[in-house]
Amino acid sequence: MTKKYWNEEIETLPLNNLRKLQLKSLQEHLEFAYQHSPYYGASFRKHGVLPSDLKSLEDLYRFPFIDKKVERDRQVASPLLGDLVAVEEKDVVFVSASSGSTGVPTLSPFTKEDFYEFQDVESRLFWAAGMRPTDRYVHALNFTLFVGGPDVIGAQNLGALCLWVGTIPSERLLFILKEFQPTIIWTTPSYAWYLGETAQKQGINLHTDLSIRKIIVAGEPGGSIPATRKAIEELWNADLYDFFGISDIFGACAGMCDKKDGLHLAEDHIYVEVIDPGTLEPVPDGQKGELVFTTLRKRARPLIRFRTGDIGLVNREQCECGRTHARISVTGRIDDMIIVSGVNVFPSDIEYVVRNIPSLTGEYRITVVEENHMTKFDIEAERSVHANVSDEYLVNQISHLTKTRLGVKPRQVKVLNSGELPRATHKAKRIVDLRGYKGREEKVEYFEVNKYDKNRSVVSTGQLSH
Ligand SMILES: [Zn+2]
Repeated sequence: MTKKYWNEEIETLPLNNLRKLQLKSLQEHLEFAYQHSPYYGASFRKHGVLPSDLKSLEDLYRFPFIDKKVERDRQVASPLLGDLVAVEEKDVVFVSASSGSTGVPTLSPFTKEDFYEFQDVESRLFWAAGMRPTDRYVHALNFTLFVGGPDVIGAQNLGALCLWVGTIPSERLLFILKEFQPTIIWTTPSYAWYLGETAQKQGINLHTDLSIRKIIVAGEPGGSIPATRKAIEELWNADLYDFFGISDIFGACAGMCDKKDGLHLAEDHIYVEVIDPGTLEPVPDGQKGELVFTTLRKRARPLIRFRTGDIGLVNREQCECGRTHARISVTGRIDDMIIVSGVNVFPSDIEYVVRNIPSLTGEYRITVVEENHMTKFDIEAERSVHANVSDEYLVNQISHLTKTRLGVKPRQVKVLNSGELPRATHKAKRIVDLRGYKGREEKVEYFEVNKYDKNRSVVSTGQLSH
């Protein structure tokens, strides 16, 4: 019970051996996909590449990308599971369906072996976040077709006492937290915030009436925004751990260790690249771009160079915790990015600003508008009930800090009273885009990672640095 790692051999594999393992797995996986998936067979031939062309991990750039659209189109063309799959349907034991906002939901299939390995990765991430068999764990994620639902099995295999709670009304969830005194809960950052506030309104003392000591969050960037993390940790008197998953692979593919400096990716299962989504060229480690994932073992449906649509960066240096697997930080979705005067603005940047002003509640909403053919944005935030400064002061603070952090100012800032903005009970929708389709097209075209990072580096005060 005192072991530090779930699987020490794999998690602390020396970096050169880890890369060798990835290369071997990738060569086998490409060959498997080429032989057994009708889509990859045809696609590789069309692009003039063969699995045997891959002599190093870097050679992967020669292979074509896929994305959510390819996944969806191939599924529609070849129901039920699409022709990216590399096994017969009789070998598939589980499918999750993505809650995608556009079009047909895409199915993510698992063989028995895939599912077993998925759960073993979940156990690994739970263990790294400090879960032990002595914990009582509340799995407060959706169970209906959602890939995050079965993650609870990973906690159970680890030995924790698991409560399969799912998404239920807050009142009932708070009843469970009081009656069963669980020690760990998994939810979204905005719901953790909402639930904490709801509990307080009901007169529950989060520090003394409940036993939650760790909160796992996923689904939004909040858990990796230091001010947001700190605010939720203080509200609950608990440790917050950010996880990241994509429905197309695993419920969680990466998670924080106790150093909380990025999320360790299960690199024996996933190879990560970061690209500029405009030019599709790789960007150096440590710089922001779109995350591209390649599965290394998933048999049912291999994903080769899958563009996730998530913006983030990768750090491949060994972590202080002893784990060698790369750490990723995810800061937003390409879909949520807006470009203002050539600067890429993510909702997470605005969140960073409003969470760093103590006189605000931390809730916010961004409205994107088009004015004289230029994209502009307004920010609404709420004054906290304890604030003893004027609205004018807060408006100036928000405007100034936004300009400092991003290099661009909001068109308008509005300060509301506490409780005026809608609270999210699942994923928060904090951006309202009032522009037409045109605005969305320019996103990919003018993405400039370097410019973005240059703007970011001007912010160097201790409080604001990552
Ligand atoms: Zn670590």
